[in-house]
Amino acid sequence: MVIEKEMEMLLKLQNVDYDLGELERSKDYLPEMINNLEREVEETKNALEASEKEFSEQNLLQNKLDMELTTLNQELAKFQKQMLAIKTNKEYDALTNEIANRKKRISEIEEEILKILTHMDDLKEKIKEYKQKLEGIEKTNADQLVHLREEFGSIQDKIKIKEGDRKNITVRIDRKLLATYERVKKGRGDQVVVTIRKRACGACYKSIPPQMIQEIRKGEIIYTCDNCGRILIWTDKSG
Ligand SMILES: [Zn+2]
Repeated sequence: MVIEKEMEMLLKLQNVDYDLGELERSKDYLPEMINNLEREVEETKNALEASEKEFSEQNLLQNKLDMELTTLNQELAKFQKQMLAIKTNKEYDALTNEIANRKKRISEIEEEILKILTHMDDLKEKIKEYKQKLEGIEKTNADQLVHLREEFGSIQDKIKIKEGDRKNITVRIDRKLLATYERVKKGRGDQVVVTIRKRACGACYKSIPPQMIQEIRKGEIIYTCDNCGRILIWTDKSG
């Protein structure tokens, strides 16, 4: 009975230590989560701005090319009209040359404009997507951030409470047993008290002599694994 009580205390201690470990770890991962959520909004905003800027630049370029196209078409019409009134071969050659030049440039510009329009369509899609994404994450991320910042702010208080719990538990555990626990914890981490499984240590699988199992089950001894040093307990999962 006494051993049973001690084991219960050890398990409680292990739970508290697990919680303390989690709290320590959260000092690292909470700021990281906060940072990621903030960055997600920031990056989406930047991407939206960049796409909108590119869209208006493309728009300006398109307008410029449209104007050039108008001028070229006017010139072309003028040259074609002059074609009807030419008198010499030299004039003919010069005009043909001008017309060919204009036509070449017109087709280049038309191609360019087509590319710009396609690109602008893509940008429109992107802008729509970024806006939708931003609408979604601005609210949810802000809500999560409030929660996470609160959690981060309360870590130290929670650690203090858990440390108080730990003290209350450790004073009720035999000093030698506690020393064993602390030693194993230092070497092996969180898992100190381990359930026996298939008549072996549940952590390192070293088998346990049958008579020891009997005594552990009866609660007559506290047994530590002679391979890994962990404290072994019999539970209904043992079998
Ligand atoms: Zn072991």
